[in-house]
Amino acid sequence: MNQFEQAAVIGGGVIGGGWVARLLLMGVDVNIYDTDPEAPRKIEAVLENAKQSLPSLYDYRLPAEGELRFTDSLAEAVITAQWICECVPERLELKHQVYKDIQSYCPDSAIIASSTSGFRPSQLQEGSIRPEQIIVAHPFNPVYLIPLVELVGEQQCIDTASDYLTKLGFMPIVIRKEIDAHIGDRLLEAVWREGLWLINDGIATTQEIDDVIRYGFGLRWAQMGLFETYRIAGGEAGMAHFLEQFGPALKWPWTKLMDVPDLDQALIDKIAMQSNAQSGDYSIKQLERIRDNNLVAMMRALKRENWGAGELINRYDAQLAPDLSVDLQGASESLECGLVQTADRVVPNDWTDYNGHMNDSRYAEAFSIAGDELLKSTGADADYVVGGFSYFTVDTRLIYRQECHAGDNIRIYSRIALLEGKKVRLEHQMLNANDDILALCDQLLLHVSLKTRRSCDPQGHHARELSKLASSHAGIPSLLN
Ligand code: NAD
Repeated sequence: MNQFEQAAVIGGGVIGGGWVARLLLMGVDVNIYDTDPEAPRKIEAVLENAKQSLPSLYDYRLPAEGELRFTDSLAEAVITAQWICECVPERLELKHQVYKDIQSYCPDSAIIASSTSGFRPSQLQEGSIRPEQIIVAHPFNPVYLIPLVELVGEQQCIDTASDYLTKLGFMPIVIRKEIDAHIGDRLLEAVWREGLWLINDGIATTQEIDDVIRYGFGLRWAQMGLFETYRIAGGEAGMAHFLEQFGPALKWPWTKLMDVPDLDQALIDKIAMQSNAQSGDYSIKQLERIRDNNLVAMMRALKRENWGAGELINRYDAQLAPDLSVDLQGASESLECGLVQTADRVVPNDWTDYNGHMNDSRYAEAFSIAGDELLKSTGADADYVVGGFSYFTVDTRLIYRQECHAGDNIRIYSRIALLEGKKVRLEHQMLNANDDILALCDQLLLHVSLKTRRSCDPQGHHARELSKLASSHAGIPSLLN
């Protein structure tokens, strides 16, 4: 699936560690080189966070994990790598030295992708033997969860990088002209500068500023950004009206523009004290987990709406989804003992409850999705529903056998227990990674016309495929015993 099977990461701090985790969990082998002997411990901690969160975003199992190798030299790390992430500290002379070393050993065709927050590609490329090979691929922390990567550089490399990152589930955005700090950090710096002024001038505390964002416009930004949000704020007259109404305010102006507060010791102490009062009860590790769980929960909510970051995850799910089309004559990979495998995924963290295990309603959800998958494999897919036919569930019986927790892998196997005109009875068995039975489900569905909202017999190609599958399942013992 990935066109670059071997990647290298140079510098495994906050950002390098995030790249390592994302690449590995998406099935890429990664060599990592860092001058700090503590790097393996730090990377393990990032990887542990990533394993707790990233697989939860998806409805299907991620590719088999790549292999991680810590190397003793930079040369060893890059010699066979096609995708090389440079994530050393933000000092231009250090980055130049690192590119010189990388380019002495890496393949000419490799892409050297800098995570730099501020430098332009032309600055990074100064003195390089193959300047076009160096691009900016600026990610956001935590790199294993936030989809955006800003790309700047030579067109051909950018096209290849964009394709590669898309296949890893990222959202690459190509920046049209190089500029200091790209797009995201330009916007963030303006808000950050204004936040520092508000504290400096005693208008608000760190907590109050964060509350204004998280209870207010931050919720809008996460799902529609700036311009689409303002378009709606203009009412029926839309964007033009919004600009007429609020445009003049820009000339007053409300903000301090480019003035920067003096970050003297007094202001630093004030911000640090307020931040301790706001967040000091939590360790950084706890805050990371809280952040990651919240990000996963928000993106999963957007997934339900097929919007923004959620739409991106749905697109990736479509890439991950196995082909369940059932080959009844031969041995199909999707069949085990003739059953259809209708789920292979992890339990997302928002499926668990106050007991710390999967909530009963989520078992029903998992089996409901499994039922849909089985019917889809026989042709009752999205097009079939658009054609005016679907299934309604009229009865569900669940038997819980064992608990399971967020991050656990679950598989579901399903069979058609009865097909009689418009009635379909499905049986499902949910297993964990040790093949223990977690739960059983008996589901009765009625085929319906969406026009009349009344039951009717299955139609055309789907009816034939369903009938073939039902006959093949007739000899399989019940899954409910
Ligand atoms: P960091 O200090 O956490 O990590 C840098 C790592 O590089 C350290 O582990 C260090 O030991 C290692 N290192 C230093 N010199 C090295 C060398 N010569 N060879 C190999 N390893 C070396 O820094 P970071 O926050 O991860 O930032 C790295 C890059 O990512 C910077 O360019 C930064 O602008 C960019 N970035 C940072 C963030 C962020 O939120 N921290 C976000 C996006 C981009």
